[in-house]
Amino acid sequence: MNFDKSSQIFYQGRWNEVISGQSFDDFNPANGERCAQIADANLEDVKLAIAAAANARLSWAGMAHTRRAGFLLQAADIMEQRKQDFVDALVEEGGSWIGKAIFETGYAIEALRTAAAMVFHMNGEIMPSEHGKLSMAVRQPLGVISVISPWNFPLLLSVRGFSVAMAIGNTIVLKPSEETPVAGGLLLAEVFEAAGLPDGVFNVVSCSRDHVAEVGDEMVSNPAVKGISFTGSTAIGKAIAAKAGGLLKKACVELGGKDALIILDDADIERAVNAATFGAFMHQGQICMSVERIIVDQAVAEEFTRRLVANVNTLGSGDPTSMGGVIGPLINEKQLKNVHAQVTDAVEKGATVLTGGKYQGLFYEPTVLADVNPSMKIYYEETFGPVVPVIIVADMEQAIEVANDSEYGLSAGIITRDEERGMEVARRLETGMAHINDSPVNDEAHVPFGGVKNSGMGRQNGKSSVEAFSELRWITLDRGGRQYPPPFNETAA
Ligand code: NAD
Repeated sequence: MNFDKSSQIFYQGRWNEVISGQSFDDFNPANGERCAQIADANLEDVKLAIAAAANARLSWAGMAHTRRAGFLLQAADIMEQRKQDFVDALVEEGGSWIGKAIFETGYAIEALRTAAAMVFHMNGEIMPSEHGKLSMAVRQPLGVISVISPWNFPLLLSVRGFSVAMAIGNTIVLKPSEETPVAGGLLLAEVFEAAGLPDGVFNVVSCSRDHVAEVGDEMVSNPAVKGISFTGSTAIGKAIAAKAGGLLKKACVELGGKDALIILDDADIERAVNAATFGAFMHQGQICMSVERIIVDQAVAEEFTRRLVANVNTLGSGDPTSMGGVIGPLINEKQLKNVHAQVTDAVEKGATVLTGGKYQGLFYEPTVLADVNPSMKIYYEETFGPVVPVIIVADMEQAIEVANDSEYGLSAGIITRDEERGMEVARRLETGMAHINDSPVNDEAHVPFGGVKNSGMGRQNGKSSVEAFSELRWITLDRGGRQYPPPFNETAA
C-alpha cells in the first residue's frame, strides 16, 4: 500500500506528529498481515485539527465559487492519476474485491466533480414582503463540519460525507474508520495537499478503537463544530444524533439497514435472480443497502429459489486482487462471529441452508437460507454479511407487510413486469429509497440518499447535502415602506 506516514495526521495544511507519538496496526483481512502503521490521535490532536478548520472557515467561505470548485476538480484529477493507490488500499485494508475497488475509486472521483458543481447551488429565494421590502432567504455554510465514516465503502462514504459540505464553504475534520484509515481519509489528505488546498480547509484525524470515544465525542461537542455527517451503525449514529441534538447542532446520520428485495408473481425471473445475487453478495453483503431479505411470491418461489442457488454457486471466492475472487473476506473477526451466530441461530430454530453456511479464515461462503421465521435473529437484525434468507409470501399485500415489518427503512427493490404495481409497492414501503426492477443497492452523487426509521435522519448527496450543511437565513432591506404604530414614531419637529 502506498502510504508511509505512520505517526502523522493531517491538519493546518501539513502532516503533524500525533502528540502521544502512538500508532496502531492496519490489517489486511484477506491474509491477516499488517499492511500499514497508522497514527493514533487522541483528544488533544483532534482539538488542534478542529481549531485549524475553525481558523480557515471564513476565508474559505468567502472565496470565489469557481476557485473553491477548482480545488475539488483539481483533487479529482489527482485522484485519477493516483487511482491505483486508492484501489490497492481498498483491497488491502478493506478486503474489497478488485472490481469493487475500481468501481468505488471511479465513483468517488465523479462524486468530487459533482460536488464541485454544487458551489452554484447555494440558492435562496426572494420572497414577497407586506412592507415592500427586499426580503431574502439566504444560504450560508455552517462552519466546521465533522465527518465520521465507516469501513465498508470507506473512500466513497468519506467523499460523500464531506465533498458537498466543503464545496459550499464549510471546512472539514474527517475521521475515517480505524479499519480503513488510508482509503477512507489519509490518502485523501495527500490528494488535497497536492491540490494546494488552503491550510485548514480539509483535516484528517485517524485514531484506534482505544481513542475513538474521546475523539468522536470532541468532534460532536467542540463548540467550533456546527454540523456532523455520520455514516455507520445505528447504535453509534443514534448516540451521535442525540448528543448533537442536545447541543442544537445539525446532524445527518446514515445508518444500518435490513433491505428487502420483493419479487412479485409476474417478475422476470432472470432479472430477479441477478438483482438478488448482486444485491445480497456484492462486497460480501457488507453494504448498508444489501439485500438482507428476499421476499418472493409463492407463485414463482420454487423457480426463483432454484435459479438463485445455482447462480450463487457460481460466485468465486478467494484472492480479492483477482477478478475471479468476487467474494472477499469479511472485515474482521467480530463481523464473522456475528454473521455465523445469526446463521447458527437460524439453523437451530429450523432454517434450511440451501447453499453456504461455512467459512475459512474471514472468508464466509455466500449463503442462502430457506424456512426463516420471525423467531430467528436473522429475520430482524442487520447481518452485514453474505447471507440472505428467502421468505415466501402469499401475495403482494403480504410482501409489503413483511417488508415493512422492520425497525429499519433504508432502501428496497421490487421486481415486477407491471410498472403500476411496482409504483404502488414503492409508495407503500416505509423506506427512504425504493427501486423498481432493480436491487436496493443504488446510489448516484446527486440524488437524495438516506433512510427512515432506524436507518437514519437527513439526506446526503447533491442538493440534499447543500440543505444539510448550510443555514437558511432571512435578510431584509427596507426602503421606507415599513410603518410603526404612531406612538413609536418621532413627533414632527
Ligand atoms: P460503526 O458505527 O462501528 O463505525 C462508523 C464510524 O464511527 C467509524 O469511523 C468508527 O470509528 C466511528 N465510531 C465508533 N465509535 C464511535 C464513537 N463512540 N463516537 C464517534 N465515532 C465513533 O459502523 P461500521 O462498522 O464502520 O459500519 C457498518 C455500519 O454502517 C452498518 O450498520 C451499515 O449498515 C452502516 N452503513 C450505513 C450506510 C448508509 O449510508 N446508510 C453506509 C455504509 C454503512
